[in-house]
Amino acid sequence: MSDKLYLEWPFFAPHHAALERALDAWAAQHVAGAHADDVDAACRHLVRQLGEGGWLRHAIGGTAYGGAGDSIDTRAICLIRETLARHNGLADFAFAMQGLGSGAISLFGSEANRAAYLPRVARGEAIAAFALSEPQAGSDVAAMQCAAVRDGDDYVLNGEKTWISNGGIADFYVVFARTGEQPGARGISAFIVDADAAGLSIAERINVIAPHPLARLRFNDCRVPAARRLGEAGQGFKVAMATLDVFRTSVAAAALGFARRALDEALARATQRQMFGQVLADFQLTQARLAEMATGIDTSALLTYRAAWQRDRGGKVTKEAAMAKLHATETAQQVIDAALQMFGGLGVVSGQIVESLYREIRALRIYEGATEVQQLIIARELLKEI
Ligand SMILES: Cc1cc2nc3c(=O)[nH]c(=O)nc-3n(C[C@H](O)[C@H](O)[C@H](O)COP(=O)(O)OP(=O)(O)OC[C@H]3O[C@@H](n4cnc5c(N)ncnc54)[C@H](O)[C@@H]3O)c2cc1C
Repeated sequence: MSDKLYLEWPFFAPHHAALERALDAWAAQHVAGAHADDVDAACRHLVRQLGEGGWLRHAIGGTAYGGAGDSIDTRAICLIRETLARHNGLADFAFAMQGLGSGAISLFGSEANRAAYLPRVARGEAIAAFALSEPQAGSDVAAMQCAAVRDGDDYVLNGEKTWISNGGIADFYVVFARTGEQPGARGISAFIVDADAAGLSIAERINVIAPHPLARLRFNDCRVPAARRLGEAGQGFKVAMATLDVFRTSVAAAALGFARRALDEALARATQRQMFGQVLADFQLTQARLAEMATGIDTSALLTYRAAWQRDRGGKVTKEAAMAKLHATETAQQVIDAALQMFGGLGVVSGQIVESLYREIRALRIYEGATEVQQLIIARELLKEI
């Protein structure tokens, strides 16, 4: 990137700029250009590296548990995701999942649960996962069927979870299951389930266009101590939404990182590729496209860091986080597509950076609330404000 003047925006404190610059240098040395044949092994390795580098301290809340601060610094996790995404999509994924997978423990865990799990997450010694979605309950979370029935000091879980990132390599899962206190969203609770718990199995590994560990989980009379419940019984939906509230803005940041990388690649290509007696960047059609890309990226950055800043001040960010995620992911898709187009045939060759960005960005428009869901959230908040 040519400059990083955005780090001087009033959204940031001086330590944020220092964090970004240190991580950028670290990532260039440790994770840039890493190509994963075995994604499970690569992901485990990245989690360890990120732990050793001290970056995962930002993924959890609580200095007593090895965290960088007492609560999660949203601007820090956004800057980290943006920077890692610019260097290596799988490194961003590894960081993000440590945060999302343990977020409910940081926010709602008992003292004992925080002490048992968070330090290992922060050191990169335990891999975390977040298990909310089901085959029949994706966008419609409240349609969840996976059930947890109280039996003495335990809950007994039965059902399935799917699309679970880190499924198959995680050491523990934060699982949301129906406990039935009330119908719909008010009858769900959250639990920490260790990967080696009896009755938990990997029903299927799922291959996606940008490979990362992903699985469908099956719970068959899986016993979980009641002490591993996160928050009150029946409050699981609130736990899930509060966790997503923190991390949704960081999805926008990851999209921003992918888009910035695509623009860098496009600029390099357009200023080198000779055609018709000049270079591609000499054509006004190309310049118009570059201008659109850069403007879209800055808009995404403004929305992303506005939402992160607002959350760090303690404000409600439902609408702002949804705007950031919606805009940054959709814009990144367009920016990356435009960059790939400038590469011509080379753009679709496996292993080219623009080709991998093209695959990386796609799922971000779907997970943690698809674009249409974000639109509904924004409109609902607007209508409430009348
Ligand atoms: C790569 C990847 C990683 C994931 N990781 C995790 C994870 O770690 N943990 C986890 O719990 N889940 C995870 N998910 C699941 C993800 O959150 C769901 O895929 C998402 O919520 C959409 O659910 P669905 O796939 O069932 O699609 P559906 O709910 O069937 O939705 C399909 C499409 O319908 C449209 N739509 C949805 N609602 C509306 C509406 N109201 N009006 C109009 N159109 C609408 C959207 O375009 C949406 O994409 C992951 C998914 C992917 C692809």
